[in-house]
Amino acid sequence: MKPMSKLPWALPRAFTLAMLSALALASCQTVQTTQPGAVGVERQQSMLLSSAQVDKSAVQAYQQEIKKAAGKNALDRDAAQVARVKSIAQRLIPATAAFRPDAPRWAWEVHVVTSGDVNAWCMPGGKMAVYTGLIDKLKITDDEMAAVMGHEIAHALREHGRERASQAYAQAIGVQLIGAALGLGGTEMQVAQIVTDITFNLPNSREHEVEADRIGVELAARAGYDPRAAVTLWQKMGQVGGAAPPQFLSTHPSPQNRQKDLTDYAARVMPLYEGARKR
Ligand SMILES: [Zn+2]
Repeated sequence: MKPMSKLPWALPRAFTLAMLSALALASCQTVQTTQPGAVGVERQQSMLLSSAQVDKSAVQAYQQEIKKAAGKNALDRDAAQVARVKSIAQRLIPATAAFRPDAPRWAWEVHVVTSGDVNAWCMPGGKMAVYTGLIDKLKITDDEMAAVMGHEIAHALREHGRERASQAYAQAIGVQLIGAALGLGGTEMQVAQIVTDITFNLPNSREHEVEADRIGVELAARAGYDPRAAVTLWQKMGQVGGAAPPQFLSTHPSPQNRQKDLTDYAARVMPLYEGARKR
């Protein structure tokens, strides 16, 4: 039996939570972030936070990361490496128009961070980093690099970060008092923290991974990179590190059927690759 003394506290709290949930639902919108492309990704998404809110927070989180890397003298150390990564990004970015016409005009940024970690990421709004561990430990080819970057760019195009931040934010609303959750200074910091967490700490969902894989191979193909490299990339990723799996895999769950899905979808976009190579 519950002690009576809890009731006076519990009732208003339950009421507050119900009110907040209602508020959250009221401002939650269903959106279609991308066009389906040749790979046919069409899931509708529920968003509580706006793109503007999330992108602004991502810019802050990105600046922090870049500053941290610069402070350790780990930013863009090797000019040839930076040029290589940037040239691959410059071919992938125009290909994003197939999924959303606004994307080629985003304020894209890409930096190379010196780190033993096998990792790469793209924050909401197109703020990217590639770690030297990914380049060196995987002896990565340009096609494989396009596969990693295409996959990460796909997360940004689909606004998976915004979707996950919306979920995390809804949970934060659920457990916090209204003043802390809904403004009065706390919101922006909170969203920035959430964006940092989803970039570095929290695993992607299987659903988001499948979408990023499929859109990623199409982006690579349209940019003239062999989409089949996504398959060898994930094989290498699984082999490297032995007992300690790459950091990339901690935020990118890699189930068995990923290989098959990538093989199937790479085959589907081969005509786009062949077309791009003729140009
Ligand atoms: Zn991913």
